[in-house]
Amino acid sequence: MNKIGVLTSGGDAPGMNAAIRAVVRAGISKGMEVVGIYRGYNGLINGDVKPLTVRSVSDVIHHGGTLLYTARCKEFRFEEGLQKAKKTCIEHGIEGIVVIGGDGSFRGAADLSARGIPCVGIPGTIDNDISMSEYTIGYDTAMNTAMEMVDKLRDTSQSHDRCSVVEVMGRNAGYIAVNTGVACGATYIIVPEIPWSIDEVCDKIKRTRETGKHHFIIVVSEGVGNSGEIAKQIERNTGVESRATILGHVQRGGSPTIRDRVAASELGYYAVQLLSKGKGNRVVGLQKNQIVDYDIQEALSMKKPFEFDLYKIADEISF
Ligand code: ADP
Repeated sequence: MNKIGVLTSGGDAPGMNAAIRAVVRAGISKGMEVVGIYRGYNGLINGDVKPLTVRSVSDVIHHGGTLLYTARCKEFRFEEGLQKAKKTCIEHGIEGIVVIGGDGSFRGAADLSARGIPCVGIPGTIDNDISMSEYTIGYDTAMNTAMEMVDKLRDTSQSHDRCSVVEVMGRNAGYIAVNTGVACGATYIIVPEIPWSIDEVCDKIKRTRETGKHHFIIVVSEGVGNSGEIAKQIERNTGVESRATILGHVQRGGSPTIRDRVAASELGYYAVQLLSKGKGNRVVGLQKNQIVDYDIQEALSMKKPFEFDLYKIADEISF
């Protein structure tokens, strides 16, 4: 290939810039031209495409967000949008595309690959909810941010003998919640993968209180329920003053950790290698610290096991 494009799509994640940098530099090292496609698939539909040089990606490896901006693009789900995107690729001479994003973005990458533009996906999402890869870019930074925030909440809930109900991100995946919960010594962790009830949560608080504990941290994964309501029910049931905090988008930002920067650099490099060999409709990922790649449809059909052992450890050592 002589010319490739790179885009970020869906929710942003810290480390996306490091991945873009790796793609640009690897492409140029292999003698290719690299263009940036702006605001996800919208950039392909609108022709928002600009050349990227070695220096376009200077001083970005340590920044969160994405220099290419990101978006969700409804039009890309339809044939008309896909045809417009293909036309843009032909007009700009783009022969392959690296797509940094999550599952939805990979579906789009598969659709475009099927229409003759080979695409390679890189898992970029803080949720770690990509089945074919044990790790996704942004996950480590998001967890470290959540951990820092919960540590701060612990100080204040300790001072007031309160229960802090903290909602962390993760859509339908409890990976951030379980790891943050373990790292912060949460009394109970509520995740979508494991059945729970408010009575169980309150019983654990009561049992823990009997051992002399006066403040409690309950980590709740986004999407499991209304954390404000959970806090109210805990207060009503246990008599412990309870406050809910939704960490929200703060978890998406910040300078990426070393793990995210290294993973992003490796995956970006490998994605370009695949394109340079003419391979498309693939997703790259990490398994047992090795880089692997799968057919996109196969990757989308895989199931990821939840960290049940870690959850069990958390449950047994938090009282
Ligand atoms: P993520 O990639 O983080 O999972 P989304 O699910 O919002 O985020 O997907 C990002 C973009 O991928 C969407 O805006 C759309 O352009 C494209 N996309 C999502 N689902 C599909 C699909 N089923 N077919 C084609 N494109 C899709």
